[in-house]
Order: sequence, then C-alpha cells, then structure tokens
Amino acid sequence: MVIMKALFAQLKKNRILKAIILLLLVSTNTAYADWYKQEQTIMGTLIKVELWHNKRLQAKKCISLVMTDMQRIDASMSPFKHDSELSHLNRTAATQAVKVSKELFQLVSKANRISEQTHGQFDITFASAGRLYDYRKAIRPSDEQLKNLLEAINYRHVLLDPRKRTIHFQHPQVYVDLGGIAKGHAVDQAIKILRQCGIKHALVSAGGDSRILGDKQGLPWMTGIRHPREKNSFVVLLPLTNTAISTSGDYERYFIEDGVRYHHIISPASGKPANKARSVTILGENTTTTDALSTAIFVMGPQKGLETIETLPSIEAIIIDTKGKVHYTSGLLQPKQEN
Ligand code: ADP
Ligand code: MG
Repeated sequence: MVIMKALFAQLKKNRILKAIILLLLVSTNTAYADWYKQEQTIMGTLIKVELWHNKRLQAKKCISLVMTDMQRIDASMSPFKHDSELSHLNRTAATQAVKVSKELFQLVSKANRISEQTHGQFDITFASAGRLYDYRKAIRPSDEQLKNLLEAINYRHVLLDPRKRTIHFQHPQVYVDLGGIAKGHAVDQAIKILRQCGIKHALVSAGGDSRILGDKQGLPWMTGIRHPREKNSFVVLLPLTNTAISTSGDYERYFIEDGVRYHHIISPASGKPANKARSVTILGENTTTTDALSTAIFVMGPQKGLETIETLPSIEAIIIDTKGKVHYTSGLLQPKQEN
C-alpha cells in the first residue's frame, strides 16, 4: 500500500513535471508574441514583411516562406537574369510560339487586360525601346533608335494562346519587361502565403507596392505618400486596413541631363519618360492591379488618369501633378453638403 502510494505520488509529480516542461516550451515560443519584421533586398528593391503572431517560430517560418517565394519570382521574371523564364521568352518568342509557365502566362494576360483598360498606356512591350535606358549610367536611346523601335511597342504584338499556353511575338523587335506589374504580383503571392500560414494581420511591401492584411491591433495602418521632391517628407497620410496600395513616381530611378529628368516610366507612344505627373498612388483590392495601374495612370497624367479610374470599380487614385498639386478620385473626397 505504501509502495502504491509512493508510485502514485511519483506519477503525479511526473505529470506536474511534464506540465511544467510543456508550459516552458509554450512560453518560450509565445513569450515574444508581437509584431515580427524582416527586410531583404530582392528584385532590386526593398522587401518588407511585418506580421503579428503569437508563436515566434511559426512567424519566422511564414516570413521565410514569403522571402523564398519572392526569390523564386525574381528568378523566373527578372529581365536581368539570363536564365529567367522571361529572358528565355524574350530571346525566343519572336521566332516561335513559346510554351510558358501558368504563372507567367497569367501575369502577361493580366498585363494585356490592363493595357486594354488603360488605352495602351500600360504596355509591357514598352521595353522594346525602354531597355535602351540605363538610369545608373545616365544612358538613353537616340531619337533615331527610338524612331526605329516605336513600331515594336504595342501589346497587341504579344499573342497569347490560352489553350496551348503559349506566347508568340508578332514583331521581330518586341521585348517585354514586367517591371510595372511583377512586384505587385509578388506581394499578392506573399499575402496568399501568409493567409495559408494562418496570419491575419500583416503588411507586405516591395518598393512602392504594399498590401495590408487586417488591421494593426484594432487600429488602421498609417501609410504615407512620399513628397516627390522632398526626401523623407510625406504629402498625405492614409489610414488603411485590408487594402492594396501602389505608388509610381518620377523620383525612383532617374538621371537629369540638360535640365530634363529621364526616369523609368515610359510613355509607349513616344518611348520617352512620361511627363504629365510626378507621382501616382492607386488604392485597390490587389497589388497586381494597383501596381500596373499606378504606372499606366502616371503615363496618362491627372486629367485622363482620374477619368479612367472613375470608370473602374473599387479603385481610387491620388495624383500629384507636375506643379505639385494633389488630385483625388471622388471616392476619396467628402460628399458635398446639400443645403
Ligand atoms: P517601381 O518599379 O519603382 O515600383 P512602377 O511600379 O511605376 O515603379 O513601375 C515602373 C517600371 O515599370 C519601370 O521600371 C519599367 O520596368 C516598367 N514600365 C515603365 N513604363 C511602362 C509602361 N508604359 N507600361 C508598362 N510598364 C512600364
Ligand atoms: Mg507600378
């Protein structure tokens, strides 16, 4: 009887011991329940992932899944990597129809749909001439070169066959670049991964493209629109939840020659940098769309740009024109008071 009692006591102790160990394990994993943040340079831009989770290890795992996926997208869609799927397409698609991955096919299809919606101002074939600019080395194409290549800029040259999942360029000089849409796509993919990971509150951004999942512990995320001419200063601060937001500006990549600012957003009609705005911010539901639209509306400028956005449901815009004046779409303005 005494032995039984002792054994029982031992077991009870063991149970308590087990409970203590378990408690310790759980607490080391949740002791830092907080916001987790990581930054990394991928796709030539700063990638930021910030999320809330009550398990440190799980949070780190989710962030690392996102970073790995960003690297995967960069490896397949970079125009600077010789072995990317995009580079292969550019080398081959003028001579034959090229079978591509589902992801690339869908993104090029989406790019072409946005070209239709924006009357050709978003056009991934801008790169037929646009690739002759090197902003770091202050190099730009001559007028002669531009004249010869302008014909190749037309998204209709990019023939898509959904049944065979092939892409075939209809002009020998066509060259495509997804720089105006791929980062937005990568951010959308990141949000998908985070959701699958069980995350409910997060912010992912790739340069000027951000997407917000949920709120920030009951409060909105405050997102600033940069002043296009004054570093470290904001023109507008927006309180946001569950939103995609992209900004395109003429201050990101540029060089100045003889007083002219040569930047990275190219008007498909001229092959030259667009000059009707300084910055365009688009708000919407996903970053693939807001990324491409911010580039397109930048080319259009405030007047046509606002008109176009007013026709698109669930999309709003903030445009800073060449004089620094800020324009808003009607959905962002207060309703007029009736007297
Ligand atoms: P960032 O790359 O700084 O986020 P944007 O989203 O505005 O800026 O995209 C600019 C990029 O889009 C350029 O670097 C180029 O790769 C591509 N691009 C430039 N002009 C056009 C255009 N008219 N249509 C589609 N893509 C464009
Ligand atoms: Mg863009």
